[in-house]
Amino acid sequence: MAEDCIFCKIIKGEIPSARVYEDDKMIAINDVAPAAPVHVLLLPKEHTRDITTADAELVAYMLSKVKMIAEKTGIAEKGFRIVINTGDDGGQTVKHLHIHLIGGKVLGWPPC
Ligand code: 5GP
Ligand code: ZN
Repeated sequence: MAEDCIFCKIIKGEIPSARVYEDDKMIAINDVAPAAPVHVLLLPKEHTRDITTADAELVAYMLSKVKMIAEKTGIAEKGFRIVINTGDDGGQTVKHLHIHLIGGKVLGWPPC
């Protein structure tokens, strides 16, 4: 756990969040400022800054849950996007690894 990390506070329950899924390694919550009708964030319970610091097996584990969470939130059939913003140039505002799962509408591309 990192002291001033907002996602660590969410994981500890100090900041409330709508949890879509939880297990011993990760949680999935609704984004507070959704970019689309469905916008879920997958967070590892253990604090790590981003995909360059994360254990590859943990990233693989989180990715293995995408299909199930997409089904649970009703976006699996029509399609969705997963995004891992990394570092300042990558637009990462919260420095605790997270996977965005976004869907529920036709998404624009490219994002830049
Ligand atoms: P990033 O820009 O780092 O890739 O994504 C951070 C995401 O976290 C943003 O989409 C932002 O809306 C979301 N976020 C920031 N603070 C909170 C919060 O307190 N609760 C929830 N549920 N989402 C948050
Ligand atoms: Zn954290």
